[in-house]
Amino acid sequence: MEQACDAPRRVCYIVSNELVKASSLLPSNKNRSLLVHALVKAYGLLDPSGCSKGTSLRVLRASPANPKELAAYHTQDYLQFIMNPTAESMTDDSDHVEFGLEEDCPPFDGLSDYVRLVAGGTLAAANALREDRADIAICWDGGRHHARKSEASGFCYVADCILAILTLKRMHRSPDSAVWRPRVMYLDLDLHFSDAVSEAFLDSSATSLGPQVLTLSIHHSAPGFFPSSPLGTLRDRSADRFDPFTLSLPLDRGATDATFARIWPSVERVKDAFRPEFVLVQCGVDGLAGDPHAVWNWSLNDGKGSLGWCVDRVCSQWGCKVLMLGGGGYNHPNAARAWTYLTSLALGRTLSPEADIPDHPAFPLYAPSFTLDVPAGNAPDRNEDAYLGEITEYFEIVARSIEERVNCT
Ligand SMILES: [Zn+2]
Repeated sequence: MEQACDAPRRVCYIVSNELVKASSLLPSNKNRSLLVHALVKAYGLLDPSGCSKGTSLRVLRASPANPKELAAYHTQDYLQFIMNPTAESMTDDSDHVEFGLEEDCPPFDGLSDYVRLVAGGTLAAANALREDRADIAICWDGGRHHARKSEASGFCYVADCILAILTLKRMHRSPDSAVWRPRVMYLDLDLHFSDAVSEAFLDSSATSLGPQVLTLSIHHSAPGFFPSSPLGTLRDRSADRFDPFTLSLPLDRGATDATFARIWPSVERVKDAFRPEFVLVQCGVDGLAGDPHAVWNWSLNDGKGSLGWCVDRVCSQWGCKVLMLGGGGYNHPNAARAWTYLTSLALGRTLSPEADIPDHPAFPLYAPSFTLDVPAGNAPDRNEDAYLGEITEYFEIVARSIEERVNCT
């Protein structure tokens, strides 16, 4: 199933008018979806005739996920509540609290369509990979990594990352009837810890079927920073219950390209030990410089260690099928820049950071630079050399225990 680095690349991109309309109503990111897909289109990236030799593009519509697909993870009670909102249920505070529909996750008009379409989009992308119709599949409206089985959380109402992992790890029958169980690596680049995804697969490798899912979240961690979870820290690997397939790599404020370049070999060491067939990359962009969170100081495309450099490594060097999802990102023009740039990388048509924003209706929002780059700012990087050295040692030891477990199955 592995593809050589220079093998032909089939890319699938998920979008539809219904998905953009529903996703643009997300209260935390109103109209972001509209902006993202408009910019991707404005650069001509959705025109299959523009693909370079050896690359093909299919634009797939997201059909709404059906109740059975959603129930592969979510509980019936949660689905019943969010899919059939009544004026009565929507004014009953106790139900809201039970299902997390309060504070940062208010109920909103169009919620049921949103949940169905985002899950449907991510699942369409996952199925294109699973059925070997694509090598890279992109759904920027997905990547909702805080939603739980029966609880909305952190602007996330649907657990599409988890649904995608469950789809990708399903038993596979090859044309010669051999049965195999693919390994799926989940790599989360969002500023926030992927609490719901990491919890969902915690200890899942402790079965007779062997390890099939590895989660690795790189995120900011500090007291009081959302989400609070003991899993989000650099956990004690000597503890009895330590699970080497549920990993966190917390970073301090101001993380720059240099810090990511330093930790990246550890990420690849883990990948090499696990040898996944599928990689799901949650490309949340709230860690980029210019995001209102103002925590990290990561650039989109300034070179080695930038978000673009990391994602390009995954797409071009890892030899896995790749599912690229969105996530956080609250400077909407920068989110559109980032996901447009990453789309161009996936297509092997890498845009220049200096590329002018094309003339299109949202053009004025890209002031004052009117270019595609998201450069780093001046914030100091508080990730000290000693800590980054500790990370390298920690992940080397963890990778060895992953290798032992993977090699004996
Ligand atoms: Zn986030």
